[in-house]
Amino acid sequence: MRVHVLGRGLAGAWMAHWCAERGVEVTIVDPFPQLNASRVAAGLINPTTGTRPKSTWRSEVLLPFAHEAYRQAELKYQATFWTPRTIRRLFLTQKDADLWAAAVERGPGVEWQPLAPGHYDGVHYPFGGVAYQGATVDTNAFIDAVSAHNDTTTASPMDVDLTVWATGWQASHHDLWSWLPFQPVKGEILDVVHEGEPLSAVVIRGIWIIPGPLDQRQQVLRIGSTHDWDDLTNTPTATARETLLAKAEEILHRPLTVVGQQAAVRPAAQSKRPFVGIHPEHRQHAILNGLGAKGSLWAPWAATQLLDHVMYGAPIDAEVDIQRWWQA
Ligand SMILES: Cc1cc2nc3c(=O)[nH]c(=O)nc-3n(C[C@H](O)[C@H](O)[C@H](O)COP(=O)(O)OP(=O)(O)OC[C@H]3O[C@@H](n4cnc5c(N)ncnc54)[C@H](O)[C@@H]3O)c2cc1C
Repeated sequence: MRVHVLGRGLAGAWMAHWCAERGVEVTIVDPFPQLNASRVAAGLINPTTGTRPKSTWRSEVLLPFAHEAYRQAELKYQATFWTPRTIRRLFLTQKDADLWAAAVERGPGVEWQPLAPGHYDGVHYPFGGVAYQGATVDTNAFIDAVSAHNDTTTASPMDVDLTVWATGWQASHHDLWSWLPFQPVKGEILDVVHEGEPLSAVVIRGIWIIPGPLDQRQQVLRIGSTHDWDDLTNTPTATARETLLAKAEEILHRPLTVVGQQAAVRPAAQSKRPFVGIHPEHRQHAILNGLGAKGSLWAPWAATQLLDHVMYGAPIDAEVDIQRWWQA
């Protein structure tokens, strides 16, 4: 079987990776690989999300699946993609603490430890917080590794059995796929440096702050992210920069210097679930999309859903199968 993948983001890279692992002949093409969401993503995997915290969809299955998939890929490509991270959820107000208490009653889907009110890495937790385990994925390293090991061609090869559209949010205005309920959303992130006490954990409170390595007593922090459903460009904005900076300074109480800002559009779905499947009428075309804000976690699993279906006729999980949206 010959598979041709359109798009070299996380979706396309995972599709190509699994194809190669299973001996399927695969090519990838992408005219604008540097502008995609996957290159901008912070790669955070947070098993519990939201202002009203709840377990990330299917995290009990998808988290171990993703961890094992990245671990196997690390062995194959001799690179590091997955970094375990402690995540500290900061309670700035009593309401934050109450929201977590309510989440615990529902079951937050994660093992957590309470943090008593106090200071952690020089950050004040006036109403305490909680700590639990998550991870970050180096999305750029993964895509680069897959690209280096596979045929990343610039032309469409002849005689392919299946073309997989892993084209991110741009699929939303393509005739083949515009019937799917896309809801693309732009996101922006900042890189800042500070010279205060280094952060040893990811801090979450409305935004996330991900510490990078220390360099000459300066530490780079990645801060994100924003949501804009109207401006679907890759252009960084002053509004997003000011919003993120103000929120980060409220949390960290230290001078921050912006050293980078990036923007991209997430291929999100109204259903908040991936889109996976073969086109109901054009059977040589399939889609792997709708990864929204969870591409690092969802892409490895969603790609196997598609490949198992294509190779063995395995049913696609009903929540992600695009057939649910098709009205002939
Ligand atoms: C600011 C920001 C922060 C984020 N942070 C996180 C995070 O912390 N954790 C997380 O899990 N996710 C995060 N995400 C979401 C994550 O980036 C996405 O879920 C994921 O990258 C989507 O991958 P994709 O491959 O579907 O799309 P993309 O990465 O957008 O890739 C699609 C590619 O398809 C190409 N393409 C388009 N049309 C064609 C065509 N006709 N032929 C060939 N190629 C084509 C495009 O050039 C593009 O390179 C973030 C996103 C943003 C914007």
